[in-house]
Amino acid sequence: MTDTTQPVIEACELVVEYGKGAQARRAVDGVSFAVQAGECVGFIGANGAGKSTTLKTLMGFIFAQSGGARIFGLPPGAVESRRRIGYLPEVALYYPFMKARELLELYGGLHGMTRAQLREKIPPMLERVGLGERGEELLKSYSKGMQQRLGIAQALIADPEALIFDELSSGLDPIGRHDLRRVLLELKSKGRTIFFSSHELTEVEALCDRVIMIHQGRIVTQKPVAELLKPLNLFEIRFADINGELPTEVKEFNPARQGSEWTLRLDDLERYTRALDALRRSGCEVRGARSLTQSLEDYFISLVEEARS
Ligand code: ATP
Repeated sequence: MTDTTQPVIEACELVVEYGKGAQARRAVDGVSFAVQAGECVGFIGANGAGKSTTLKTLMGFIFAQSGGARIFGLPPGAVESRRRIGYLPEVALYYPFMKARELLELYGGLHGMTRAQLREKIPPMLERVGLGERGEELLKSYSKGMQQRLGIAQALIADPEALIFDELSSGLDPIGRHDLRRVLLELKSKGRTIFFSSHELTEVEALCDRVIMIHQGRIVTQKPVAELLKPLNLFEIRFADINGELPTEVKEFNPARQGSEWTLRLDDLERYTRALDALRRSGCEVRGARSLTQSLEDYFISLVEEARS
C-alpha cells in the first residue's frame, strides 16, 4: 500500500555530471522536488534541459555526484521500490526476435506476476494500447509508434502504484495520443501516482495537476497547472462581414482577415463590449467570442526566453 504521508518520488539537491575532470558536463544541477501519492505531475523543459538524466537517476540507472533521490522512501534502484513502479524509458531497445506477448511476460515476471496472472492480463493490455492483433509478431517488425505503445504496456502490465514515463507520447499518432490520454485519466481516477516528461504541452496541460519545469539542469518552476493558465485580459471575436463589406464602425477596431472570417483582438473589457455591440448593430455575424488564457506553451516559451536573456 502507498503511504500517503511520504512522497512517492523525491529528489533532493540532486547533482549529476557526465564525464570526468575537465571534460565533466553538469546535466542536473541541484534539483529538488517531490511527487505525492495520487498526483499527476508533468516534467517539462527544452531539449537537453536534464529531464531524462533526472528520471534515469531516480530509477537508479545512473548515479548522482551528490544529493539524493528516493522512490517510496527507498534509494534509487532498490528492488522493493522497482516492483511498485512502472517505467517507460525515452529510448527503449527491445530484443528484436521477441514477440510483444513474450516481452510483457518478461517484464510482468520481473514484477512478480504469476503465469496465470500474465495469461489473464496480457491480451487486454495489448488491446488497451492498440496492439491487440500484433501480440504474436516479432518486435523487429514494429514501427516506432508501435514500440512506444508496447513500452507503455510494459510499464503498466503489473498495475504498479506509480508510473514514470520519459517522453510519454513520443512517436504516437493522434489516435495513439487520444487512447493514451484515456488510459492516463483512468490511472489518475484509480489514484495512481504519475510523473512524466513530455514536449506535448497541451497534453501536460490537459492531464497534470502540477508542472515542474527544468532549464539547464535547474528547476525554474513548480506550480499547479491551474495557476499557470491565468486569464490574459485579452479578448477575441471572430465574425463574418456582410456581403464582403466591413461596416465603418467595425473598421475602427482594426480587425484582421483570416480566410473567410475576420478576427478582432481587444485588450480591455470595455472595448470588447463596444466591439460586440458595433458588430451586432451593423448586422455582422459573430461566430465566436472568448476571453484568452495563457497556455502552458505560452508560459513555457516566456520562461525559456527570460532564462536565455
Ligand atoms: P531531450 O528533451 O532532448 O530528451 P533532456 O531534457 O531529457 O532532453 P538530457 O538527456 O537529460 O536532457 O540531457 C541533459 C544534458 O546532459 C545535455 O546537455 C546532454 O547533452 C547531456 N547528456 C545526456 N546524456 C549524456 C551522456 N550519456 N553523455 C554525455 N552527456 C550527456
